[in-house]
Amino acid sequence: MSKEKVDKSEEDWRKSLTPMQYHILRDKGTERAFTGRYWNHKEDGTYTCAGCGQELFNSDTKFESGSGWPSFWESIDKSKVMLKDDLSYGMRRIEVLCSRCGGHLGHVFDDGPQPTGMRYCINSESLDFSTEKCELK
Ligand code: FE
Repeated sequence: MSKEKVDKSEEDWRKSLTPMQYHILRDKGTERAFTGRYWNHKEDGTYTCAGCGQELFNSDTKFESGSGWPSFWESIDKSKVMLKDDLSYGMRRIEVLCSRCGGHLGHVFDDGPQPTGMRYCINSESLDFSTEKCELK
């Protein structure tokens, strides 16, 4: 897969994503807890960006957070995600975006398990899943 950035017009994104994917990835929406495809998904494999296909998270780093959203303690590689301060809704949070297409994935918090102590709280709608395993870097 090409590593080049994906830069599409909003119109093109609307054509290539479902309305719900568009809402999450492009409008920074949030799916309701315990409703997504992956919060309780336990297969071994790789979670990729639903927007551009970039590999984002390895199932080995997924854990049960009780939040109702798929949760990971690390991304496959730091280069795969962009972190951005998010001060919306009167909260101070860190937004997680796909580094390749800029799609909104979720937020990261510092109350996760070891070895990182991080909790990447990600919307199922912004992910796809492949049973092919990707090497952790
Ligand atoms: Fe992406």
